[in-house]
Amino acid sequence: LRHLILVLGDQLDLAASAFDGFDCAQDAVWMAEVAEESTHVWSGRPRIALFLSAMRHHREALRAAGRTVHYRELEESGKGGGLAEELTRAIARLKPQRLILTEPGDWRVGEALVQAAKAAGCPLEVRDDRHFYATRADFATHARGRKQLRMEYFYREMRRKHGVLLDAAGEPEGGQWNFDPENRGSLLAGGPAGLKAPVKFEPDAITRGVIDLVNRVFADHPGKLDQFDWPVTTVEARVALQDFIAHRLEKFGQYQDAMWTEEAWLYHSRLAAAMNLKLLDPREVVGAAEQAWRKGRVPLAAAEGFIRQILGWREYVRGVYWRSMPGYVELNALEAHGALPQFYWTGDVPMVCLSQAIRQSLELGYAHHIQRLMVTGLYGLMLGVEPRKVHEWYLAVYVDAVEWVELPNTLGMSQYADGGIMASKPYVATGKYIQRMSNYCAGCRFDPAKATGPEACPFTTLYWDFLQRHEKRLAANPRMALQVKNLARLKPAELAAIRQQAGAIRANGGVPPVGPGEPGL
Ligand code: FAD
Ligand code: SF4
Repeated sequence: LRHLILVLGDQLDLAASAFDGFDCAQDAVWMAEVAEESTHVWSGRPRIALFLSAMRHHREALRAAGRTVHYRELEESGKGGGLAEELTRAIARLKPQRLILTEPGDWRVGEALVQAAKAAGCPLEVRDDRHFYATRADFATHARGRKQLRMEYFYREMRRKHGVLLDAAGEPEGGQWNFDPENRGSLLAGGPAGLKAPVKFEPDAITRGVIDLVNRVFADHPGKLDQFDWPVTTVEARVALQDFIAHRLEKFGQYQDAMWTEEAWLYHSRLAAAMNLKLLDPREVVGAAEQAWRKGRVPLAAAEGFIRQILGWREYVRGVYWRSMPGYVELNALEAHGALPQFYWTGDVPMVCLSQAIRQSLELGYAHHIQRLMVTGLYGLMLGVEPRKVHEWYLAVYVDAVEWVELPNTLGMSQYADGGIMASKPYVATGKYIQRMSNYCAGCRFDPAKATGPEACPFTTLYWDFLQRHEKRLAANPRMALQVKNLARLKPAELAAIRQQAGAIRANGGVPPVGPGEPGL
C-alpha cells in the first residue's frame, strides 16, 4: 500500500485535500468509529448518531467512487479503544508507506494521530483544510501585530478577498458592511406566524441501523432519536440549503435573536452540522444566499446577516482556536470554579427559558445561537460555573459540536474565560433581555423585573451579583463601565440581599430554593 488516507468523522468530503493525487490502484482510505469520541465528553445520542450515520454514508460514497476503504465499525473496535489505538493496528496490518491527513478540527485528535504515526514509524503528512476560506496561516497573517482581534475587521477583509456582496467598484453592496440595526427583532406578540417547518430527512436503512446501535451501546447517554431527521449526505444537505433559502432566509436577519416556546428552528438554517462534517461547502452556502439577494428574493440585510455568520464568525472562531490552542481550554479569567448544575442534563428546572433551551438541546441536539449564548451560556457565566465544565457540556450536546468551533464560542464568547480574546466584554444581562427576545417569561413563575424575593428572576439576581463580584475588573473595561455604574443606584441593603439570594441559588444547585408555601416545579 502506497498511501493510507485518514478520514475523520468531521472530514466527509470526497474532494478533501488529503485526496489530492489519490490513486485507486495504490492507495486506500482508513476510517474508524471509536467509542472514545462519544465518551471522552458524555455525548448526546443525536450527536453520536449523526456522526456515525454520516460516516457510514460517506464510506458508501467513497466505495462508489472506486476507492478502497478500510472501515472499523463501532462494534468491531469495541467500547474501550481510541482513534490512536485503531490507527496503530491499521498501520501494522496494512503497512502503508505514508499516511495522509487533512488537518483535524480538534487539537487533541491531531496530537493523538501524530503520536501514533510516530510510534509506528510511519510518515504522516498533514495538509491544509481547504474547506475553509482562510487557512490557519492566513489568520495568523491577519492577527499579526494587532493588539486586539475583532471579527468585524476580519470579516471585511474576507468579503474583499473573496468578492462576496461587493459592488462593481469593490465596495460593500448597499453602501455598508453591516445591517445589524435592521436585524435582531423579537417576534413580539405575534409568534412565528406563517413559518414553514424545515424539510425533514426520514432515516434510511443505514441511519436506522445506527439509531438501533446508538440506543443499545449508548443507552445511558442523554437525548432521544425518535425525531432524528438531520441531513446525513451531501445530497440531503443541499436540499436542506435550498429549503432554507426558499423559506426562511428572508426573515433570518430580522428574527435571528428571537426565541419562542416549542419552536426550536424558527428562521435558522440548521446547516452548521452539515458544514462542520464537511458535507456542505461554505462557499456553496454563502453563494446561494448572495444569489437569493441578487435575484431579489430576500432583502440585503437578511443575506448579509446570514453570510456574516459563515464568512465572518465561523472562519474567525476557527482562527482563534488554532491560534490559542492547546492552552485555550485551560483559561479561566474570571476564576469560576462552580459545578455545572445537574439540571443541564435533564432540563428539569422551573425557569422556563432554561427548561426550553436545555430540553430542546438534549432531545434534538440543537439550540440556536441566542439560546446558547443568552440562556444556557449566560446562566453558567453568572452562576460562576467552571468554564471547562460548560465547554464539555456544549461539546457533548450539540449535533454541530466540533472543538474548533465549540470551544471559542463557549469558553471565550459565552463564559469570557479567555479574558477578552473572543469578545470585548462579558455578555451579561438581566432576565429582561430574555423577556424582550422571547415569550418564555410570560409562562414563567419568576419576574424579570425583580432581583430579590420569592418571585425574583434568577437571571436578574445573578446579573447584579455578577457585577458586584467582578466590579473592579469590569469597571476597567470601557464597554462595561455604564453597566457597572448602575450598581451605584442600588442601596447597600439591596446589594447585600442580592448577594444573599445569589448565594442561596448556588447552594441549591443553581435553582432558587422554594420557601414554605411557595409553588415548586
Ligand atoms: P444559523 O443561525 O442558521 O447560522 C448560520 C450558520 O452560521 C451556522 O450554520 C454556522 O455555521 C454559522 N455560525 C453562526 N454563528 C456562529 C458562531 N458564533 N461561530 C461559528 N459559526 C457560526 N456552532 C457550531 O457550528 N458548533 C458548535 O459547537 C457551536 N457551539 C456554540 C456554543 C456557544 C456557547 C455559542 C454561543 C455558539 C455556538 N455555535 C456553535 C455557534 C452557533 O450557535 C451555531 O453555529 C448555530 O446555532 C447553529 O445553528 P444553525 O445552523 O441553524 O445556524
Ligand atoms: Fe427565564 Fe427569568 Fe424569564 Fe423565567 S422570568 S423565563 S427565569 S428570564
